[in-house]
Amino acid sequence: MSKARVATVWLDGCSGCHMSLLDLDEALIDLAPKIELVFGPLVDAQEFPEGVDVTLVEGAVSSQDDLQLAQKVRSRSKFVIALGDCAVTGNVPSMRNQIPPKQLLERIYVDGVNVNHRVPADGVPALLKQAVPLHEAIRVDLHVPGCPPPAAAIGYVLTELLAGRKPELTGKVKFG
Ligand code: SF4
Repeated sequence: MSKARVATVWLDGCSGCHMSLLDLDEALIDLAPKIELVFGPLVDAQEFPEGVDVTLVEGAVSSQDDLQLAQKVRSRSKFVIALGDCAVTGNVPSMRNQIPPKQLLERIYVDGVNVNHRVPADGVPALLKQAVPLHEAIRVDLHVPGCPPPAAAIGYVLTELLAGRKPELTGKVKFG
């Protein structure tokens, strides 16, 4: 049986959702023969590949780079999962949404420091006006809330998808 091509993506999040994935511990050994991990912070791929079966996306969509990567994820993945409250609702990253990006950046990089009073420009992606949940940027196939979602829920989702079933998450996850 060919392995499922699985990717993980880290947008505007704290990596706690990825840590929860790693908290699967020995269950990862059971999943390993069924999965080829083709992209994400845990592997060295530079470009999001074509032909991905399942992509788990952590974090809100906050910058132009996030948006472009999310769109690429959608066009190259059969099944996209919003993993964690930041991807599902905006959560922590969206706390900035009451403040216009220019004002926010000046507060941090100009008013808030004693040296180099300058908003960085080179190599820094432009912020979107608001940090938004993943489904406001692209179509999402499954929402897995939690901050972070429990490892058992992530394992359940992957196991069900690999078995060709749509996961039923009622009672298995909660926000926060
Ligand atoms: S949902 Fe929670 S754990 Fe996941 S990226 Fe956001 S803040 Fe971190």
